[in-house]
Amino acid sequence: MGFRILALGGDGIGPEVVDAGLKVIDVLASLEGFDYSLEEDLLHGAAWDAYGTFLRDETLEKARHADAVLVGAVGGANWDDLVPNGSPVEKDGLMKLRRELDVYAGLRPARAYNALLARTPFKTGVVAGANVMVVRELCGGPFFGEPRGIETSEDGVRCGFDNAVYSDLEIERIARVGFELARRRSGRLVSADKANVMESYVLWREVVTEVGARDYPDVKLIHLYADNAVYQLCCRPNAFEVILSDNLFGDILSDLTGSIAGSLGMLPSASLASAPVIGERVRPGLYEPVHGTAPDITGQGIANPLGAILSVAMMFEHGFAMPDVAQRIEVAVDDVLNAGIWTPDLGGSATTVHVTDAIISALRA
Ligand code: NAD
Ligand code: MN
Repeated sequence: MGFRILALGGDGIGPEVVDAGLKVIDVLASLEGFDYSLEEDLLHGAAWDAYGTFLRDETLEKARHADAVLVGAVGGANWDDLVPNGSPVEKDGLMKLRRELDVYAGLRPARAYNALLARTPFKTGVVAGANVMVVRELCGGPFFGEPRGIETSEDGVRCGFDNAVYSDLEIERIARVGFELARRRSGRLVSADKANVMESYVLWREVVTEVGARDYPDVKLIHLYADNAVYQLCCRPNAFEVILSDNLFGDILSDLTGSIAGSLGMLPSASLASAPVIGERVRPGLYEPVHGTAPDITGQGIANPLGAILSVAMMFEHGFAMPDVAQRIEVAVDDVLNAGIWTPDLGGSATTVHVTDAIISALRA
């Protein structure tokens, strides 16, 4: 019967880069000889325009039954001010999807590509060899905490407020993902928090320390305040391997690592409902480029598809337990970058289709 894949392009450049990812899957299916079935559906703004909701129940059902979900990106000015009834997650189709599937483990890898070193803002010696994994908690923290809102007091002063809240259970499960990945890499885990000023991060630090001492004594755990972590990452990107962070700091840290790769458009992610186990298929899983909908370049056919294509590589690794196929895609990405076939964000003039076709040729070669 094969793998069941659901594709949700979303908004802006989302559908453009998801199309690129789907082409790569299709070629690999024939090269590697596996079957798959594909369903496509709308998410967020596109779903709102068609159905008046950011995420339909039936889309959620399809996602629950899929072996892997390929996501583009969501959001845009057309939909920012819409306030659907219900809880805050109703305002964002992707956040609701992550939350409903409980894909709390955001794996966001970034590496320095030799062909692109000069495209990064770093000196070559500083960034060469960098290979960082940000492990971002995706289903809790200040993006979801309640109460939240904007209230106007009697004297007309408006107050916006959010609640940064994490339970020990939420911290423990994401910490385990961080420790597992650190164990597979260098055996070092950096945890970023603001335990110096916020209670939720005091608990974060306590629980991460406990989990490490109890179950991962072989992993060297380093706590950094998030502001310092960002600074250190800018100064010495190749000194980091795995960074554990909450939903908020993980969002910021993972965009920052786009500078290591040479463009935000290069970065893939996997959003998983459990820690990945080598050789086992993880379900459910969303595979999504880190970038957003890039309204400034939407519809021009120049979006960098490599973040989405590398997300497909993560789909093969974690969703289908086919790490050799993931590797094959990564090699093809290197080949295409080395050949100078670059979209404008990398300083080139190739189109999305041009880069995607080059990846496919490299896969076939
Ligand atoms: P963005 O990631 O969309 O764009 C930031 C910059 O990077 C822009 O200059 C854009 O052109 C460029 N860029 C991003 N992806 C690229 C690609 N694949 N190829 C070439 N250039 C690329 O972030 P933003 O501008 O802050 O947000 C735009 C919209 O996207 C907002 O509505 C925001 O809410 C949404 N957003 C969605 C997600 C998501 O769906 N996961 C993530 C971030 C932002
Ligand atoms: Mn982000």
